[in-house]
Amino acid sequence: MAAVGTADRPLRVAIIGAGPTGFYAADHLLRSATTVEIDLYDRLPTPFGLVRGGVAPDHQKIKAVTAAFDKVAAHPRFRFFGNVELGKHVTVDDLRRHYHQVVYCTGAQTDRRMGVPGEDLSGSHPATEFVAWYNGHPDYRDLTFDLSVERAAVVGVGNVAVDVARILCRTPDELAQTDIADHALEALRRSRIKEVYLLGRRGPAQAAFTNPEIKELGELADTDITVPAAEAALDDASRASLERTNDRATMKKVEIIRTYADRARTERSRALVLRFLVSPAEVVGDDAGRVTGLELVRNTLVPTTTGTLQAKPTGEHEVLPVGLVFRSVGYRGVPLPGVPFNESWAVILNEKGRVLDPDTKQPLVGEFTAGWIKRGPTGVIGTNKPDAAETVQCMLEDTAAGRLLTPAEPAADAAERLVRERQPQWFSYADWLKVNETEVAKGRAGGRPRVKLTRVDEMLAVAGR
Ligand code: NAP
Repeated sequence: MAAVGTADRPLRVAIIGAGPTGFYAADHLLRSATTVEIDLYDRLPTPFGLVRGGVAPDHQKIKAVTAAFDKVAAHPRFRFFGNVELGKHVTVDDLRRHYHQVVYCTGAQTDRRMGVPGEDLSGSHPATEFVAWYNGHPDYRDLTFDLSVERAAVVGVGNVAVDVARILCRTPDELAQTDIADHALEALRRSRIKEVYLLGRRGPAQAAFTNPEIKELGELADTDITVPAAEAALDDASRASLERTNDRATMKKVEIIRTYADRARTERSRALVLRFLVSPAEVVGDDAGRVTGLELVRNTLVPTTTGTLQAKPTGEHEVLPVGLVFRSVGYRGVPLPGVPFNESWAVILNEKGRVLDPDTKQPLVGEFTAGWIKRGPTGVIGTNKPDAAETVQCMLEDTAAGRLLTPAEPAADAAERLVRERQPQWFSYADWLKVNETEVAKGRAGGRPRVKLTRVDEMLAVAGR
């Protein structure tokens, strides 16, 4: 019999999760010398993961990366099985019956908690849900956010927090030029929010946001940005650390933030207040269980044994009078049914992408992972390219060594039969392209990149199901 990975006997691979990492993994595999057939599964009918459901609607350039994914999808040995969920429609055992290798690229589908009292009061939300809502993710499109309040706090100073603050501060006219979901555009049109606080627990030099993102906050059409001068100033330890490491990007970031301290309020209708050295202590509510404020504790920075600077509460408290709180303190991976998981790191138990047996800590034959569910929710979209390459390298090494699953039904037709049987409403890439065309055509009429379909039923109808 021919070796697996040749034209007569292609390596059959299932990739779970059609975000950027899933496509990068597919691309690396299809470019290799091995003959690979790929089935890319996603629980949504639409591909692209966080490029569609996470990247901010006013950051269209970042979304241009999908043109490269379309090229991958056009490869004759690539198929998309959308609207098919692992654990619901197919199991890991099913995949073992049909593929030589399986790669989990499911990202980080939930958020980290602040761990403070009042976190679940009405009006306190995970930023991830707000992001999914304004981006039209079908599972989140029916959420509601009370935008009739005048003040909102965003906890955390990563790029997601910046996205949330910026979307809250953009004018309806600015938003109307984007592909923000229509329900969110309508709600944000009626928004009465006048003040948004962006809250960092450490100082400006430790802020996780990147320089273009913080600079953009200073360029909003109808929002003034400010920062208390004392909080924008560098403490001695941060200054010493920056001088020692000569970290130019962070020096620039600190300088951008410092310029915001000099800015006076203008006639702009909204204010974005950047705060540093404050941690949430409690989300405060009224008798009806609605958020009325966010109690903060002031911090000072102390060095850790590893040389980083950590926030230490001083005991000095204040209450911000806000009616909405968005926690944006990081994403968190969720376990997949039947796949070993490291609970404390919230990632699939793995080494360089090879999934490990939890008992023996040895690689499980034929199971791999890549992206955020492999390494945690860090880095930009492009970071997942080398990450996926590392996993694919392991996959190809194992193929060469014959360390593969032995599927009982390896034919491509058999896998498609399984999908048709378990989920008659599965979506092919051609189905997605019809949805894409419809969305883009709707957008063109209003001078927008696209108008998103946000219900699975609508997508099925457009695909002619
Ligand atoms: P992130 O970059 O890890 O930022 C998390 C923020 O939460 C940090 O400021 C962190 O502060 C803070 N935090 C954590 N626990 C906290 C607590 N208990 N109380 C108060 N603050 C707390 O995460 P993210 O913003 O979710 O972004 C995820 C990844 O996606 C990042 O790599 C990001 O760059 C990327 N992304 C990029 C873009 C873009 O390129 N435009 C847009 C969105 C997301 P400490 O530093 O003190 O821990």
